[in-house]
Amino acid sequence: MSIHYPIAMPKIAYLECSRCQLHLDAATPQTICTACAGTLYVRYDLSGAAGLAQRDLVGKSAQDRRWSGMGRYRQVLPSVEPVTLGEGWTPMLASRRYKNVWLKEEGANPTGTFKARGLAMAVTMARHYGLKKLAAPSAGNAGGALAAYAAAAGIEAHIFMPQDVPMANRD
Ligand SMILES: [Zn+2]
Repeated sequence: MSIHYPIAMPKIAYLECSRCQLHLDAATPQTICTACAGTLYVRYDLSGAAGLAQRDLVGKSAQDRRWSGMGRYRQVLPSVEPVTLGEGWTPMLASRRYKNVWLKEEGANPTGTFKARGLAMAVTMARHYGLKKLAAPSAGNAGGALAAYAAAAGIEAHIFMPQDVPMANRD
């Protein structure tokens, strides 16, 4: 059986506030809702994918398998050039204790944690918007991932760590 995907990746239609449902323009970089400071959902225009892509098959076509990591899911990611260090495609390990329980080994990501996935996308969009400096609070893992992806994108990163973070997180 062959699977046909839309040639074009989905466009971001707008950003939607998770609290007040306000729609914001995705052409402008946004961090939080301008009306209530709520977090924002990215809403895609998936009309071009209607009837062409099946949710359970995304990432499984022969074409998708040529891509490693998160690139396998490009049909449902923003249609911009990705900043990638090879994140994703981490192994699933069977639990030794419980039948039918699988563990995702996210330590295999380039920065050692699942934070690599989110920061890859965040820095991808930051570069797309032409941002030159990024800042984030972190207890460790997100800061490490931001530093790595920002460096890959040639963007300056500033990471702020609370004073009470355990010493193990600082090293
Ligand atoms: Zn809002």
